[in-house]
Amino acid sequence: MRTMQAAVVRSFTRDLDVTEVAIPEPGPFQALVRVEYSGVCHTDVHAARGDWPVKPVPPFVPGHEGVGTVVAVGEGVTRVAVGDRVGNAWLATACGACAYCVSGRETLCAQQRNSGYSIDGSFAEHMLVDSRYCPIVPPGVDPAAAAPVLCAGVTVYKGLKVTDTRPGEWVLVSGIGGLGHLAVQYAVAMGRRVVAVDVDDTKLDLALKHGAEVGVNVRDVDDPVAHVQQLTGGVHGALVTAVDARAFPQAVGSLRPGGTVVLVGLPPAAFPLDIVSTVLRGLTVRGSIVGTRVDMAEALDFFARGKVSPTFTVRPLSDVNAVLHELEQGRVDGRVVLDVARDGS
Ligand code: NAD
Ligand code: ZN
Ligand code: ZN
Repeated sequence: MRTMQAAVVRSFTRDLDVTEVAIPEPGPFQALVRVEYSGVCHTDVHAARGDWPVKPVPPFVPGHEGVGTVVAVGEGVTRVAVGDRVGNAWLATACGACAYCVSGRETLCAQQRNSGYSIDGSFAEHMLVDSRYCPIVPPGVDPAAAAPVLCAGVTVYKGLKVTDTRPGEWVLVSGIGGLGHLAVQYAVAMGRRVVAVDVDDTKLDLALKHGAEVGVNVRDVDDPVAHVQQLTGGVHGALVTAVDARAFPQAVGSLRPGGTVVLVGLPPAAFPLDIVSTVLRGLTVRGSIVGTRVDMAEALDFFARGKVSPTFTVRPLSDVNAVLHELEQGRVDGRVVLDVARDGS
């Protein structure tokens, strides 16, 4: 049996086990990918800890920002070939036939499967991808820098689209982590004016470096909502990527009449929504989950053209548990990208 190194969740209460497991075989429509790099998303923390109501079933391998090279293909594969550089994505596969799939909304398919959650992901030297769904990494880009685009990038790009804002309008980005620091860049590239909100000045400095006009540390101002209203007259749109439920009502309160708040961060929580002001001010509150294959190609195109550039630190796969702890403590600036390829492989 050929084996590979992988980081495996065996229990929601224990660290991941970095160990040898069998290399999988590609089935119909699947490609076997030798992974070079994988970004670490806060969703991997939620997955490894079993935070959400529908839990993954251990043992499983997290990771859904993997970039690598196709080394073998199964039956029926036509979209990719051995040697191509591809990635995995949260949306690993969908049914292709339901009303959502046939109308270009495959991220809502009830039959979808998710990389690093319901199927094994990219914290391993090899991974299987569905060749009909996997992102194709544009030629000539740095594969480590491409990794964060595959979840963080596409998610915030799609989320910004559904704020229904226009160029020149204000967008508030709450939570300047892996997702948020890219949201600032996509928003600027899309001509929006950005207010960045976080609880940490280092994160806000990163947002300003990437083109935000204003940074608001909610720990430093008495009334963050009044502060944002005064600075901007109320934002036209807000994208909440924060991992703290308190950020959500603050973003709603920062909107101007007719504004839209897009919920993207996934702390397992609820928040109160004032009915009268939501109605009278004509607000929209919506959720947004990753992006479709079309959104992914567009998000990668912004990256390949140099319009967005992830800030990241490369660490070895063996650091995976330390990285998950650092994410939980809010100590990661930008993204951590794991160097998954074993020396000499
Ligand atoms: P991250 O840990 O890199 O960033 C989270 C950021 O939130 C940090 O900068 C932290 O300082 C900030 N924060 C914490 N408390 C805050 C507060 N009260 N106000 C403002 N900011 C605050 O995490 P990430 O990888 O960017 O992921 C963020 C969230 O988005 C996670 O819950 C993840 O599961 C979720 N997510 C959702 C989707 C989707 O499709 N909807 C996709 C990917 C990730
Ligand atoms: Zn993710
Ligand atoms: Zn479907």
